[in-house]
Amino acid sequence: MTIKRLTVFSLLLFFTVCQLPAQTSPPTQVCGTTGRSPWLDKYQAGKIAPLPKSAATQYIPVHLTIVGEDEGSGYADPLTLVQSFQLLNQDFSGLNIQFYIDGDIDYLNSSIYYDHDFNNGRDLLTNFNRRNVFNNYVVGNPAGNCGYYSAAEDAIVLGVGCINGGDRTWSHEVGHFLGLPHTFYGWEGVGEISKVEAFDKPAPTTVTLGRQSVEVERVDGSNCADAADGFCDTPPDYLPERWQCNNAGVYADSLLDPDSTRFVVHGKNIMSYANDRCVEEFSEEQITAMTTNLGGRTGLAITNPPAFAAARAEDLTILSPADRAVATYSDEVTLVWNTVPNADFYLVQLNISSNFNGSVFTSFFTSDTSAVIRNILTPNRRYYWRVRPLNRYDLSGSFSEISQFRNGATTTATIDPAFDAAISLAPNPVGGGQELRLSGSGLTNGRLEYTLFSSDGRQLLRRDGVQLTNGSFQQTISTASLSPGVYFLRMTLDGRLSTRRLVITP
Ligand SMILES: [Zn+2]
Repeated sequence: MTIKRLTVFSLLLFFTVCQLPAQTSPPTQVCGTTGRSPWLDKYQAGKIAPLPKSAATQYIPVHLTIVGEDEGSGYADPLTLVQSFQLLNQDFSGLNIQFYIDGDIDYLNSSIYYDHDFNNGRDLLTNFNRRNVFNNYVVGNPAGNCGYYSAAEDAIVLGVGCINGGDRTWSHEVGHFLGLPHTFYGWEGVGEISKVEAFDKPAPTTVTLGRQSVEVERVDGSNCADAADGFCDTPPDYLPERWQCNNAGVYADSLLDPDSTRFVVHGKNIMSYANDRCVEEFSEEQITAMTTNLGGRTGLAITNPPAFAAARAEDLTILSPADRAVATYSDEVTLVWNTVPNADFYLVQLNISSNFNGSVFTSFFTSDTSAVIRNILTPNRRYYWRVRPLNRYDLSGSFSEISQFRNGATTTATIDPAFDAAISLAPNPVGGGQELRLSGSGLTNGRLEYTLFSSDGRQLLRRDGVQLTNGSFQQTISTASLSPGVYFLRMTLDGRLSTRRLVITP
C-alpha cells in the first residue's frame, strides 16, 4: 500500500525515536553488503573500458519509500532525510552525479518490512521496486545493519538510525550500487576487528569470504590490483567492523601485512567502516569505476532534466487555518497553503511549541498543497506549523514563517456527569435505517447542540439551537444514510459536554 496523499491519521509516536530498534544480535556491521559484483570482476579484468567523468551532470532518479510500522509510526524524520540527501549529492558532486526525487515520496506502513530480515527485505524490494529508477528505502531495521545494497533487486535499504546529520551510510550504499566493494573486501567474513590476525603477527596471504579465498593487500602495492577491492589507490584495510579514527584520521592500532610491514588504516574512504566523522571521499579509481558502472546502466541517468530552480519559502503563503486562528477543529484540521512555483512537494512540520530545532510533534512529505491532521490534536491547545517547498532536483531552500492556531475552546469541556446521566440515546445498537431517539430530562433549560461523527472523525450531522422546555428535549435522528459501523455523538448544553458511542448494525 503506498499513500501518495498522506493523511496523518495514525502518526501517534512520531519521530522522537531515531535509533535502531533493539536487535537480537549486536549490530557489528555498518552495512549488510558483503559480496563483490560480477560487473566489478569484469571491469577490473579489463573487459569493460573505463569511462571518463561525464562533462554534463548526470541526474539519477531516486524512488524514495519511507517505511513505518503498521500503525504508521517510526518513519524517518523528513527534514533529516532532506539533509542526508543533500549530503549524498555533495559526496557525488565531484563525480558530476546528482540524485533527484522521482515521482512522489511514498509512505508504506508495514511492521514486517520496517524491522526486517533479509528474506522480508527481499519481499519488500520485489513488491515495491519501480522500473528504470534507483529504488531507495528507509526502514527501522534493515536486517541488523545500518543499510545494505541488494544486488538481486538492485536497490538500497537504509536504517533510520544511520542517516542522521553527517552520516555517510547513504553515500556508502550508493557506492555499492555503483559497483564498489568495501576497501577491506575479503575481511567481512572475519566479522570482528578483535578476530583480525594482523595486529601481533603478519596477516595471512588470503582470507576467506563465504566460499571464496581473497588475497590480502600488501603495503608495497605489489598485489593491489588483485587483492581486496582491486583498487590500487585505496590502501590496505583489514577492519571489518565499525571503528573510530583518531585525530590523525587513522585507526589507533597498527597492523602487519603479509610481508610483516607495519601500517595504519586510513579512515577517509567512504567504502571503509571508519566512523562517519572520519570518512569524506571516494578514491579516483573508485570514482572512475562508479562513472563507468553508471555509463553501463542505460536509461537510468538523464543529462537533460527540465529547467528547474529551488522552490522559495518567500513564495509560500499559509491559507488555512489563518495565523493565530482560534476555532473548533474537533479531531481534525486541514492545513492549506498555496501552490509554490518550482515546488514538486512540501515538507510539513507541526509542533506544540514554536521551537522547531528539536524533535517535532509530527512531520511529513506531501505532494499536495493541503494536509489533514486527524486524531492527534489535543483540545484547547496551541499548535505551530510551517511548510518547506521542495524542488525534486534541488532540495535547497527554507521553511515558511511559522503559523499558529489554537484548537478551539468548545472541545475543552470534559464530560459533565450530571448532563451525561440525564441523556438517553436508543436503541443502541440500532439497525441501519431505523430511527434513533435522543432525549434528555431533568435538565436546566438552555440550548442543545449535537454533532454526529464517523469513527474516522468526519462530521456527518450537526444540529444546534435546540431549545429545551421544562428541562427536557426529544430528537429523532435518521440512520438511513449511514452505513453499518461505529459512530460518535457529541452533545453540548450551555458548555456542558456529553458523548455517546453509537453502533449501527446491518
Ligand atoms: Zn558496505
